[in-house]
Amino acid sequence: MKPWQELVRVWKAEGLAAAKDRADTFSVYPKSLHEAEGSLLFITKEPQQRRLAVAGAGPMQQLFHGVKETADDTVVKLADMDHENCQALRGYFGFTKPRAFGRQGTSMGLGDRLGLASPGHIATVQGTGVRPVLAQQSMRELDLTGRTYDDVLDAASWAVFQEGYHEGFGADGDHLKNAADIQMALDIGYSMITLDCSDHIDNTVVDASEEEMEVKFAQLTAEEAAVAEQYIGVDFQLQSGTVINFTERQFKRAFLIYKEMISFTKHIYDTVIGPCGRDVDFEVSIDETASPTLPEEHFLVARELHQRGVAVNSLAPRFCGEFQKGIDYIGDLTEFEKEFVIHAGIAEHFGYKLSIHSGSDKFSVFPIIGKHTNGRVHVKTAGTSWLEAMRVVAEHDPGLYREIHQFALDHFAEALKIYKVTTDLDKIPDVWSMKDQDLPGLMDHNDARQLIHITYGLILQDRTNGRYTFNDRLYDLWQQSEEEYKQVLQKHIGRHMQELGVEETN
Ligand SMILES: [Zn+2]
Repeated sequence: MKPWQELVRVWKAEGLAAAKDRADTFSVYPKSLHEAEGSLLFITKEPQQRRLAVAGAGPMQQLFHGVKETADDTVVKLADMDHENCQALRGYFGFTKPRAFGRQGTSMGLGDRLGLASPGHIATVQGTGVRPVLAQQSMRELDLTGRTYDDVLDAASWAVFQEGYHEGFGADGDHLKNAADIQMALDIGYSMITLDCSDHIDNTVVDASEEEMEVKFAQLTAEEAAVAEQYIGVDFQLQSGTVINFTERQFKRAFLIYKEMISFTKHIYDTVIGPCGRDVDFEVSIDETASPTLPEEHFLVARELHQRGVAVNSLAPRFCGEFQKGIDYIGDLTEFEKEFVIHAGIAEHFGYKLSIHSGSDKFSVFPIIGKHTNGRVHVKTAGTSWLEAMRVVAEHDPGLYREIHQFALDHFAEALKIYKVTTDLDKIPDVWSMKDQDLPGLMDHNDARQLIHITYGLILQDRTNGRYTFNDRLYDLWQQSEEEYKQVLQKHIGRHMQELGVEETN
C-alpha cells in the first residue's frame, strides 16, 4: 500500500480539513491538496518522481491522462506531471495560469533555470505583497539549459499547485528580440514580455564627434528632424520637481542613439502586444548596451513612446556603474543615487515601474532603489537561485562540487564569450586543498560566484560518451534536498527583499 492511500481514506471518511491536517505524514506535498468536482487532487512524493493524484470518480479524472489504481474502493488516477496534464491543470485551476500585474507595486523576477526553485521563491514572497514572476527566461538561458518556454511555464504552474499558492504569478518572456519569439511566448500564455531593444540602439553615436553627429542628423527625414523642436530649449518638469532639458547637442545625441529603438518598440507594440487581446505586462529593456542610459535619454525614450501610444508597463535602463551577474553593485553609490532619483522620477511621471535587471545580489543599492521608487519597482533575479542550488551541492556532495568547479575553471574562457564579467580566477581558493566544510562558503566569494554563475549552461549540458556528465547527478541530489534548497532560497532571496524595504504584510 502506498502511503498516500491512507490519505485518501482519511479524506473519504473525515473530509478535506482532516486530510490537510495529516497530509505531511503521507508522502505527499501537504499544500497541494485541492478539492474539485467531488475529487481530491494532490501531488505525491515518490522516490524517483512526483505525480498528480486525482482521487474519487468524477469529471476531474477525465481531465488528466495517467494510470488508475484503486485504494480502499476509491479510484485514484496517477497522472504524470507532463505538458499535456499541465495544460489541463491550467485550464481548470485559474491560479496556475500566469497573470499580468499592471503598473503598481513591487514585483520580482525570480528566474528558475532548473525548474526547481519556484517552491522556495513562493515561500519567500508569500505574505509580503511582492508579486512573483516565477517563470522568467531569456532565449540565451533556454539555449544554455536546453529547456523550452513550455518547460519553464509548466514548472511554475506545477509549483504553485504543489505549494497551494493562489495569489497569482507572472511569466516573463525575457529579453526577446523579435516578433516571432514574442508571439510564441504569448501563444503559450506568458503574461509579461520584455522587449530587448539592444539591436536597435545606435552605439556608434555614443563616441561620435560633433561633425559625425551633424552628418547623421542631416540624414534624418523631415518628420524625424522635426521632433527636435519639441525638445531643444524646452523645460520638462517632472512630478518629482526635477527639470529635464536638452541642449541641442544632448538632444541630437539622444535622438540618434534611440530613434530606431523607439520605432522598433512602437512596431512590436502595434503588431504583437496590442493585438494579443489580453493584459500583458510590456517591459522595454535598453539595459544591454554599450553605455549607461543618461537620464535625459531615458526621458526622451519614455516621452516618445508615450506620445506614440505605446503603453509601457516597465522600463529597464542601464544604470551607471556595473550590474554584473551574481555579485553586488560595482560603482559609486553617491553617483548612482543621484541618477537613480531622476530615473525613478521619470518612471513615476509616465506611470510605469522602473525595472532593475541583473538584480541578483545588488545589496548595496537595494535600499536606494526601494527608497526612491516607493516600492513601485520590478527587480529581476535568476543567477542567484542557481548559485544557491550549487551551495546545496557543495554542502551535500563535496566531491561532485569539486569536479564541477574544476570543469568550470577549465571552461571559463568558453563561457566568457556569452557573459561579461571581471572575474579574477587567481583569487579563487584551490578547491582540491580546501576542507569539505569550507566549500559552501565559496558561494559567498565573488570570483567563485561568477565562475559558477556564467558556466551553468556548460555544466548542465556537458556530456561524456553521450551521457550527461553532471546533470543527472545534480538533479538527483536536488530532489533529495528540496527542503534545504527551499530554505537557502528563502534566506537569500529574502535578504534581497529586506534590503529593498519590503515589509511583511501578514
Ligand atoms: Zn536585461
